[in-house]
Formats: sequence, structure tokens, C-alpha cells
Amino acid sequence: ERVISSEASNFDEPFEQSLRPQLLSQYIGQDKIKHKLAIFIEAAKMRNESLDHCLLYGPPGLGKTTLAAVIANEMDVQIRMTSGPAIERPGDLAAIVSSLEPGDVLFIDEIHRLNRSIEEVLYPAMEDFCLDIVVGKGPTARSVRLDLPPFTLIGATTRAGALSAPLRDRFGVLLRLDFYDEAALTSIVVRSAELFNASIDHESAGEIARRSRGTPRIANRLLKRVRDFAQVRGNGHISIDIARDALELLQVDPIGLDHIDHQLLLSMIERFRGGPVGLDTIAASIGEESTTIEDVYEPYLLQIGFIQRSPRGRIVSSLAYEHLGIPLPIERDN
Ligand code: ATP
Repeated sequence: ERVISSEASNFDEPFEQSLRPQLLSQYIGQDKIKHKLAIFIEAAKMRNESLDHCLLYGPPGLGKTTLAAVIANEMDVQIRMTSGPAIERPGDLAAIVSSLEPGDVLFIDEIHRLNRSIEEVLYPAMEDFCLDIVVGKGPTARSVRLDLPPFTLIGATTRAGALSAPLRDRFGVLLRLDFYDEAALTSIVVRSAELFNASIDHESAGEIARRSRGTPRIANRLLKRVRDFAQVRGNGHISIDIARDALELLQVDPIGLDHIDHQLLLSMIERFRGGPVGLDTIAASIGEESTTIEDVYEPYLLQIGFIQRSPRGRIVSSLAYEHLGIPLPIERDN
């Protein structure tokens, strides 16, 4: 299990729940998004209408599910949560949407994984708040129209590009979540420590923040492990020395890279002279799926400029060579 994986594990679930902000004012960072949402929410409430359908996209662990719940809370409505792969048949979708109250939020995580037949049922539901479903089979089959209460669909995806254009076009609001900066992550660590009743100073919170890959889920997970360490090795207080020792033990380097990142970069450097090298070739060389590299490992390495994309493949940047303490190949000395 990768301690800095941005994807949720079963282990995260109970404590993530307890840390979820409930209101926009408690949701740290993502200021542009919050600003826009606050206006849309207020306008919808003034008109007594449901909020427009929203698509939230960005890498895992940045707070899409949390934000969907915050939106529902701010709108004073209920939220129903499901995911693309969980809706297998049009009937599954019909069962969910027909149970909504006016104004409710339907949250579909991993919406890019909805199958096309479901998407088609979703279009009229999003546009006209009605469902056309086929009842019966063969010659007696007939289409029945079901009126729905107005609702807000919030879709979340790590891959906005994988969404079909007709589906994407039906969202009135598209919001891209960005990686968090160090100040925002530090505030998240301090807030979570308060909720955990853990004692931490600002410097140590910053140390955890810097190693969290711009991702709240990772920050919270690292905090939890560091807190254990402080309890067993110290007096419970998370000091800078405790934080550094614990993070070293967890093999998370000062900028949040772990052995898998190192392995990926080293493999590109040692076997492919730092690139350009295609995604599938990298995947094969470290025994991973290309989509895992693209969705999970690569976004942060791209974000910090350690990997660059080119038409001929991925390239390890001089910044990464410097971080790993490896000299640049002569012909790339730039
Ligand atoms: P995934 O799509 O992989 O489920 P996600 O983007 O939906 O990820 P969340 O589950 O919403 O991520 O958030 C992960 C954790 O990070 C939660 O425990 C939440 O409390 C915390 N978190 C996320 N965003 C914020 C924020 N802006 N402020 C405070 N805590 C946050």
C-alpha cells in the first residue's frame, strides 16, 4: 500500500468522513471555484431553483466528493451518492432519480465510466427532468415517460477528456480542481489535527504539507501516521523532528516522492536516457498499467515539472535529475 497514493483505500474511509468540511467556508483553498460556486448557489436559492448541473474534474483526492456534499449542504438539500460503474442498467438510474426530492443533488463519481446506454437515458433527465424507459420485451415493449423532480447532477471525474462531448455539454458548470499550494495544505493539516485532537506546530504542519503532493487526502493520511509516531516515540506532540523522522520512516522524500516515483524516473533515465519515451513503454518497464501511470503517478510529476510531455513521449526534466543527484546526459546539457 502506497502511503502517498492519491486514491482512496478502505482504510481511509472512516477517518476521511470525520474530516470532511461541511460548508464552503470550511473548505480550504480552491478559491476561484468557491467564489464562483458561492454566487451560483446564492442565485439559485434566490430564484428558488435547483443549481445547474456541475462537472468537477481533477486528480484523485483533491476534494471532489467533499465539494459535492458541501454544495448540497449549502443548497439545503439531500445528496444521493453513486458512481458510474455502479449504474449497470437504465433501471438502476431510474430507481435513483425517481427517489429524489425537488432540488436534491445526485452525485455520480467516476462519471466517465458510465456506459453509453445509461448516458442516453441521462440526457433527457438532465435537460428536461424526465426519463424515457422501455418496459417489457420484444413486440410488447413500450416506452414510458417518467417525470422527475428538478435535481442537480454533480459528476466527478479524473478524466474530463474521457467524457463524451454530448454528456460534457449538458453540464452548465465545469470546475477544475487544482493541486493545493503549501499554505492551503498546511491549513488543512492544522484543521485535521484539531479535529483529531492532535497537538502540532505550524512548522511541522508545513513539513507534512510539503510532502503531500498538493493533495488533501495524502496530507490527512500522512498526518495520521505521523501522529501515531509522535504517540509512540514522543510525548504525543508532533514536533518538527518527530514529523521528519516519521516521514523518513514512511519513505516519503522532502518533496513527497516515494520509491515508485523514484523507480519511474530512474527507469526512464537509466533505460531510455531520460526520454522521450512512450507511456506504454514506461508502463511495461516498471510493470504498471499505462492508465495508472497517467492518472495516478504522472500528474504530480508533471505538475512539479519533473516530467514533460512531448509529441514523441515523456521526458525527464533537468529538475528531476538535480533532485535525484544524477548528472544530465551530455547531449541534454541544457
Ligand atoms: P476521489 O475522487 O479519489 O474520491 P476526491 O477528490 O473526491 O477523491 P475527497 O474524498 O473529497 O476527494 O477528499 C479526500 C479527503 O481530503 C477528505 O477526507 C476531505 O476531508 C479532505 N479534503 C479535501 N478537500 C479539502 C478541503 N478543501 N479542505 C479540507 N479538507 C479537504
